[in-house]
Amino acid sequence: MSTNKAGDDMHSNHVGEFLKDNGIKPSYQRIKIYEYLMGSMTHPTVDTIYNALCDQIPTLSKTTVYNTLKVFIDKGIAMAITIDDNEVRYDTRTDVHGHFKCEKCNEIYDFKANIELEDEDVLRGFEITKQQLFFYGVCKHCSEAK
Ligand code: ZN
Ligand code: MN
Repeated sequence: MSTNKAGDDMHSNHVGEFLKDNGIKPSYQRIKIYEYLMGSMTHPTVDTIYNALCDQIPTLSKTTVYNTLKVFIDKGIAMAITIDDNEVRYDTRTDVHGHFKCEKCNEIYDFKANIELEDEDVLRGFEITKQQLFFYGVCKHCSEAK
């Protein structure tokens, strides 16, 4: 975390502009939540985001985090990832990419994926609005730790 206050403000201004450009009113909480999500490569849950920010924003609630993420998703600047059966995780990377979940450490890794549709006839005339590609297994770090 940066201790440079001026630098932080500059960064926040930039995020605020980005939210505005996407039709989102840039409240302090929204800026902080987007900043956190963007800076964390771990695909955090609502709980993770809440726990990371609640000291800094005492008025924050889990409901606010959840509703804010919903706004981000509606506006197309974040994605919900349902790779887990019992928890939804979030991502600011919205281009098509796959997710690999390690069943040992619970880490989720991004990977480049370009899905070639072999039987395109079935989907001819269909509009695809969302693609999710999930792989499960054991990551390299956990395999090597054995
Ligand atoms: Zn692992
Ligand atoms: Mn991702």
